[in-house]
This record gives sequence, structure tokens and C-alpha cells, in this order.
Amino acid sequence: MSSTTASRWTRRTEDVAKPGLTIERVETRILDVPLIRPHGFATTTATEQSILLVSVTTRDGVTGFGEGVVPGGPWWGGECVETMKPLVDAFIAPVMIGRRVDELVGILSDIEKVVANARFAKAACDVAMHDAWARSLEVPVRDLLGGQCRDSVDVTWALGVLPVETAVAEIEERIASHGHRSFKLKMGAGDPARDIDRLVSLASEVGDRVSLRIDVNARWDRITALTHLPRLAEAGYDLFEQPTPAHDLATLREITRRTGVPVMADESVCSPADALAVVRAEAADVIAVKTTKLGGLRESLKTAAVAESAGLACHGATSLEGPFGTAASLQFACAVPAVSWGSELFGPMLLRESYTTTDLVYADGKVSLPDGPGLGLKPDWSAINRFTRE
Ligand SMILES: [Mg+2]
Repeated sequence: MSSTTASRWTRRTEDVAKPGLTIERVETRILDVPLIRPHGFATTTATEQSILLVSVTTRDGVTGFGEGVVPGGPWWGGECVETMKPLVDAFIAPVMIGRRVDELVGILSDIEKVVANARFAKAACDVAMHDAWARSLEVPVRDLLGGQCRDSVDVTWALGVLPVETAVAEIEERIASHGHRSFKLKMGAGDPARDIDRLVSLASEVGDRVSLRIDVNARWDRITALTHLPRLAEAGYDLFEQPTPAHDLATLREITRRTGVPVMADESVCSPADALAVVRAEAADVIAVKTTKLGGLRESLKTAAVAESAGLACHGATSLEGPFGTAASLQFACAVPAVSWGSELFGPMLLRESYTTTDLVYADGKVSLPDGPGLGLKPDWSAINRFTRE
């Protein structure tokens, strides 16, 4: 190497050294945010959402936020805020501190050497680093994911396990107030035959005006699903989300074949490799992409690429994130063409109160991309302090 080349290279290295991007602090706190109403799942009912808020601050003083969020406790994927906080504090944060946010994929790969699984906790850190990096560059997070392909995404409203009259009233209210056109009904909590009766009569009330889907959260066995789902197909339900256990791809495939209704894989897909297994087994038509369960935006990109390559659609799914987590999933959904099956990014609407200075805008059944750098939202510290668990 000539001395001229060497000095040019030295200069270039100094130009890009950017010590201001170095992560100085990673802070975590648990927020408990009340919900507007109890939200019933197959095995539990939530009255508040607990969120691990992770912040990443660079030497330049730029802070990015991410959320570790599970739907109503550890029943879904084995993680909860109480497991995530010590894991981030003791094991993940030390890998991040002292590294630059623009080394993001290198940091994520080093985190894998220290902590297995724990995807919800890793997602919070992945998103906080994306937010801090994008803010440092003064660009939105979607620019780090390839840029924008849409400026809003359809939002399905999800109803907990509710009696028919209550559910119909809530659907009518949501159509009038926010223009939702599709609704997801949680089931799997009670006797299947009675659950099906409830949903068939609900469809007879509103099914001619809206799209109806179900989510069984993997609670039924093969025979229960194959016995009962044909009635929902007949009643006009147009998507069956994960009726049977995560590992049982053969039954998911059989449900699609027998009912003619598309099946969405949720619990079955927690990694890009899981998506590949679903593709190989021809087990589903749609993949629920949650930036949380997949471990963040980078793993979500890979998962969507697998789905898209096989001709499957992706749905922008949620684990009931607050504003920062939802904004991350929204930036993702608007940067990835494969997210063509709408979303359920309604988490902030289920919270009684926000903790950002502005809210995401929901109208006409959609949620729109916010303006501004990073995730497009700023923290409201007085609300955050109020919700912080002692
Ligand atoms: Mg689900």
C-alpha cells in the first residue's frame, strides 16, 4: 500500500469513526398501563398491559426506545416483563454498551452468543437501537429497512372472549368510531361447540358488513378443529388463525385443505426458520409477523422474505404493544411489500392512556405512518413515570 493510500484510508477511518454513535446507556423499566376494557385470551384475561420500556442512549445524547411486550403474561411464549428485565440488564445490555448503534447487526449477532431464545426481550433492544440509529441519521426507521412502500396499513380490531351482544355492540361502536372493516374474535377458552354457536350467531348479526376472523391461540387438538371449523367456514369466517398447536403443521395444512378457508400461522412461526418449515409443509397461507415474537425488525425482515419467496402473505400482527412497539411494527409494515394481509396494530387504542407526546393516527380502519425521525414518537416522561412499576 502506498503511503498516499494509507493516509487516505486513515483519514477515511477517522471520518466514519463517529464516536457519537457509541451506546453509552441502556435503561429498562416496567410500565403497567391500564386497558380500556379487560381483554380475554384463550387462557387468561388482561386488565392492564405490562411493558418493558428499553431506552438506548448514545454518546451524542440521542435516545431510542423499544418495548418488550407479551400478550397478557408468559402463557403465550414463556417470556414476560419480569423475565425480560433482568435478562436485558444483566446479559443483553452489556453486549450493547460501548458499541456503535450502526453496528446493529453485529451487536445482534453477538447477543445470540450470550442469550438463547428470549425473542421478546431481544426485540425491545433491536427496536431501541433502530430508533436511536435512525434518529442519529435524522431519518425514519423505515429508511433503515429499505424505505417506504405504503403510508398506512389496514387495522383489524380484535375482541376478547365476549358474549354475543357485548361483542356485537363493540363491533358496531368500532365501525362508527374508527371505520374498522375487519374483526378478529378470540376463542378457545370454553367448550368448543358453545364457542362456535356464539360466533355463528355473531356472524349472522354483522357478517354481511365486515370481515370476521378467529384466533384459537393453538388451543384445539386436530379432531376438535376439524369437527368445528367447517361451521365457521359456512358462516362466512374468512381467516382461521392458529387453531392447533405450534408444532402440528400437518393439521394446519389439513384445515386449509378441508375448509377452503386460509389459515394464518402465528404460534408456529417465531423465527425465519419456522417460516421456512411452514412453507415446506404447505401448512398456511398467511404468516403473522410480530416484530416482538420474532426478536425484532431484522428477524422480521428475514421472515417476511421467506414468506414472500413462497408466495405467502404476511399480516402485521401484534402482542399488544404500546405506542413505541406499535410504531416499530408500523414502520416495518410500511417498508415491507409482503405485509399485504393488513395488520392488527391496535395496541395503543387498547390502552386507557398513552405515554408519548403525540399518538399514532387511526382513521377509516387504518393507521398512518407518523412523520419524524426514528419511530416518529417522543416520550411523555410524566406519563412514563406514573406508569413505572415501583
Ligand atoms: Mg394469534
